[in-house]
Amino acid sequence: MTDQYAVIGNPIGHTKSPLIHGLFAEATQQAMSYVAIEGPLDPDVGFERVVRQFAAGGGKGMNVTAPFKLKAFALADERSERAILAGAVNALKFESGRIIAENFDGIGLLRDIEVNLGVPLAGIRVLMLGAGGAARGALLPFLAAGPAELVIANRDVSKGEALVAQAGSRRAGLRACGYGDLAAMGRFDLVVNATSASLTGELPPVPPSVFSPDGTAYELAYGKRLTPFLRLARNAGAHGVADGVGMLVEQAAEAFVWWRGMRPQTGAVIDRLTVPLD
Ligand code: NDP
Repeated sequence: MTDQYAVIGNPIGHTKSPLIHGLFAEATQQAMSYVAIEGPLDPDVGFERVVRQFAAGGGKGMNVTAPFKLKAFALADERSERAILAGAVNALKFESGRIIAENFDGIGLLRDIEVNLGVPLAGIRVLMLGAGGAARGALLPFLAAGPAELVIANRDVSKGEALVAQAGSRRAGLRACGYGDLAAMGRFDLVVNATSASLTGELPPVPPSVFSPDGTAYELAYGKRLTPFLRLARNAGAHGVADGVGMLVEQAAEAFVWWRGMRPQTGAVIDRLTVPLD
């Protein structure tokens, strides 16, 4: 039987994952199917039942998107360190009756920034806005890349502080703050908007002084053209601005490697999905 994969979320109509994995499978000549499943919001129907049914029916793996990333974490028999720190998972593998959980959002973001945009994090000043699931997922991969500084700014500062505490001994150069502290912190080489503000057309209260003329601004949301954050960055003179479409494709590639044991090329897929910012 053809190996089966799926993405589960609600709503799920907007998902690009079947297209991305379909292109990967075609390019690497893998016999596999990949479908979108609208997960049940009704707790009586049960996310868990849908996942277990898919696995019992021959499913090999699943991507998990909002609002099920925490539920998938709770369901797993095994979790990677990245998934544990994030407290959320975006990929599952079904093996010998067990559910294994991973979080590839952070490594996907890092690969897009370092490999595709050509901005190595080693030795630079990085500002991350937000301390939600996506920021938590990025923390370990970002710290491993060796930035000189990683500052996490969040409206609710306690969430950023909890992240710093969780990072344990890897916390060199890592600190949390509120938006009000940013004006005194100077310029950053890379500013990442990992808040969900852009989804509602809002701007996190970040001062223009954080952007550097030869620096980069990265927006995790995608398909929104120039968001208020990217517009602010551009007006403040940031050299490079990018949205999260590359992250989306790169996290998918990481899951593909995990499931299929081979790395697909991502460049053409990113090009196909890219919506011009202007
Ligand atoms: P969460 O709901 O887990 O976290 C939301 C974060 O945004 C919190 O830190 C919250 O701050 C902050 N926030 C929300 N509104 C505002 C605002 N108006 N001003 C300032 N801060 C705000 O979301 P996720 O971490 O899951 O997602 C974050 C973003 O990343 C979304 O845009 C999502 O679409 C995108 N994403 C992109 C992916 C990709 O592949 N490109 C993959 C995953 C996510 P507080 O705690 O103070 O409330």
